[in-house]
Amino acid sequence: MIIVMNSHAPQASVDRVVAEIVRMGCAPHLSQGRFRTVIGAVGEEGLIDQNHLAALDGVEKVVPIMKPYKLASREFHDEDTIVEIGGGSVPRVKVGGPHAACIAGPCAVENEHMLRRIAREVRDGGATILRGGVYKPRTSPYSFQGLGEDALNWMRSCGDELGMPICVEVMDTRQVETMERKVDCFQIGARSMQNFDLLREVGRTRKPVLLKRGLAASVKDWLLSAEYVLSQGNRGVILCERGIKTFEDSVRYTLDVTSIPVVQEASHLPIIVDPSHAAGRREYVPSLAMAGMAAGAHGIIVEVHYCPSEAQCDGPQALFPPVFTELMGQLRRVAAITGKEFEPIASPPPTGRVDSALGVSA
Ligand code: PEP
Ligand code: MN
Repeated sequence: MIIVMNSHAPQASVDRVVAEIVRMGCAPHLSQGRFRTVIGAVGEEGLIDQNHLAALDGVEKVVPIMKPYKLASREFHDEDTIVEIGGGSVPRVKVGGPHAACIAGPCAVENEHMLRRIAREVRDGGATILRGGVYKPRTSPYSFQGLGEDALNWMRSCGDELGMPICVEVMDTRQVETMERKVDCFQIGARSMQNFDLLREVGRTRKPVLLKRGLAASVKDWLLSAEYVLSQGNRGVILCERGIKTFEDSVRYTLDVTSIPVVQEASHLPIIVDPSHAAGRREYVPSLAMAGMAAGAHGIIVEVHYCPSEAQCDGPQALFPPVFTELMGQLRRVAAITGKEFEPIASPPPTGRVDSALGVSA
């Protein structure tokens, strides 16, 4: 249910509506629009007394949200949400609305040296956020599983040194507490999209969440997963289209470019594309990245490696750094057509800084 306040409703009226929603056993969620406040009342069906809310001072109308996802819907929040990643020890990067962002780096952090080298190359090539897996969801339990906390600390210090926020996949609720202190953005992998406990747990943090689409999830399922995060009070959800399973077997997955306008009609959340996992082969990555941006995505997440033949994970789809740099030039032009802009590379902070809260030195 959404309660639309009239444009001059005083704060006291908003507070009263919020208090009544709580009294009915529901959770109030405020959406401050340019002209008016909209309050979402979220809870189990049957708890809300619509007529009572409609009669309160300052309320213009009470309307049910028809979509199964509520806080993720455009009905609840009309304007594009802009999510900010970073702040603190690194610059803030905006994603959403007119802001496009490029998240790049290795699939997995294999050692500190390779991470530093790739991070520098992607930053110089135009990425503003660094990716790197430290816990890897692998099909086989005998494949490389990631280096865990050591790798996480390298990611943190590398991001700080280069002035790049870091985006790291979280796989388990038990990792959330430690990771919350160290990452700038949680990544929820395609295989975890319906790990509802994990979604709720990251929803309780205040770090942005990059939510990949499940391998066989509909847009509705995906937005309902976003709703799990939002319902816990975390507004920083960024969706990521990374390809779905179809009958086509010439590529790893099929990038569903159509999902971009579909999501943008249904939801205010930013959406980016992952051309790497969809393609599975570096030869196809630039085309898919450009197709995603042309369809209106707010950026890309892409895998890069200077020596993919030695990569422990996803080598065949990693771009060589010069190709990545060239692609970024092309993407800037495509983004301009859809009214978006990739931020220029932020200048790095002075080197040698120690972030005592994180216990890591840059
Ligand atoms: C990844 O980003 O390396 C990854 C495992 O992606 P996905 O969850 O989309 O397969
Ligand atoms: Mn990968």
